[in-house]
Amino acid sequence: MHELGTISYVIDTVEKLAVENELTKVGSITLEVGEVSGIIPRFLTDYWEYAKKKTSYLQDAELRIETIHAVTYCQDCGETYPTLQYAKICPRCQSANTFLITGNEYNIKEIEAM
Ligand SMILES: [Zn+2]
Repeated sequence: MHELGTISYVIDTVEKLAVENELTKVGSITLEVGEVSGIIPRFLTDYWEYAKKKTSYLQDAELRIETIHAVTYCQDCGETYPTLQYAKICPRCQSANTFLITGNEYNIKEIEAM
């Protein structure tokens, strides 16, 4: 249920910004979602359609989702590589001494007022 928590976070954050900036309508929100965050964009959209109707300023807001590509770093050879393709084993030196740099997070990239 990552998606429900994500949507709650988005709505809380946008609500604060809307109050602070005296926005009455939000046109769109761009959310970046990491490839290995476990968040499924389709579920996000479903929750979004449901949750936005409960507020007045988000009624017509569109949720745009962008992907943050997952990147892993190898501590033995210093190489970075795409996580989805090679997982925990470095394709250059076969080391498992690696860690994820990016791709496990999500954040709000842009909020567009109407
Ligand atoms: Zn390596």
